Amino acid sequence: MHHGIEGLEPGDLVGPAITPASVYFLPGEPEAVHQYGRWTNPTWSALEQRLSILEDAETVVFPSGMAAIASLLYSQLQPGDAVLLPSDGYYGTRALAERYLAPMRIEVATCPTRDYGQRDFSGFRLVWIECPSNPGLDVCDIREAATRCRAADVLTVADNTTLTPLGQRPLDLGVDVLVCSDTKCANGHSDTVFGHVSSRNGELMAQVRDWRCKSGVIPGAFEAWLVHRGLESLEVRFDRMCSTAEVIAQRLAESPSVIKVSFPGLPSHPGRAVAERQMLRFGQLIGVTFSDAGKADCFINNCPLIRPVTSFGGIQTSAERRARWGDAVEPGFVRLSVGCEPVETLWTAMEATLRSL
Ligand SMILES: *Cc1c(COP(=O)(O)O)cnc(C)c1O
Repeated sequence: MHHGIEGLEPGDLVGPAITPASVYFLPGEPEAVHQYGRWTNPTWSALEQRLSILEDAETVVFPSGMAAIASLLYSQLQPGDAVLLPSDGYYGTRALAERYLAPMRIEVATCPTRDYGQRDFSGFRLVWIECPSNPGLDVCDIREAATRCRAADVLTVADNTTLTPLGQRPLDLGVDVLVCSDTKCANGHSDTVFGHVSSRNGELMAQVRDWRCKSGVIPGAFEAWLVHRGLESLEVRFDRMCSTAEVIAQRLAESPSVIKVSFPGLPSHPGRAVAERQMLRFGQLIGVTFSDAGKADCFINNCPLIRPVTSFGGIQTSAERRARWGDAVEPGFVRLSVGCEPVETLWTAMEATLRSL
């Protein structure tokens, strides 16, 4: 994110401009870089260039994480294909596949993330990995799964939303393509919905870009600019959030008010060894289980430094009880998204709330 002043003339803007455009000046033969607003936009290009540096791979941006996910499923799958999705991953991905792809003769199978190591991948066209899974934070060995998929000629996709390119690098672990909801940590300011797809496979990226162009699922210039600005502080925000989460997870695990803590960085996590091998950071999400829904709601609603919202990855600490959406988790399970508050200030507020439960 610190690249980008090459080629500037004195007086030039140092950041990207917001360019709202449906048309560009296009006399004669259509040879200009920018021709029509659904095909290209300079503000998207500026962001794609930054994300390409961060991901070390070609990147195409989308108006949401789900749009990025749809671009892959729709551009890569055909009738007769089979796709494997994590049964404990982001609900929207499964809902999209089951509601819209299954009726088009695309077989949708599911598997819990922690069982990916035992799963036979042969026969699938595409295997979807989400690690750690949202919301349960289970872990699978990405390199092992990607290696077996490659041998079976299966395309691997990783949803890397929870860790960002600074916390885990799925393409370096052998995955073909990744998606990310930039709505979460990447933008980080809880003010826009956004997503991207990255891959080192140029042919696949051309198909994804073409799908965006033909479907018309394109981001706004202002939203692309917001994400660009958010990304510039991703490293400091993510570093603070992950460091704080390590401290908070340990202390929550020691609290008598808490039944269970799920965090890939804790020695008690069943995927800890794999997490240590493949993650650069353990992330800022913590799964906290209380004895019942009432206690969980009191923790979320009574702690002055916790915002009760759905979604995660913002500067402010937030939390929600996932069973309220029907996720397959305990009624008292809370997904806690640790923000950028000073660690002791945050813990003091949490501890007081825990004591009052
Ligand atoms: C939020 C999320 C998505 C969907 O992203 P949107 O930006 O809300 O469309 C996909 N995958 C994961 C893991 C998510 O957390």
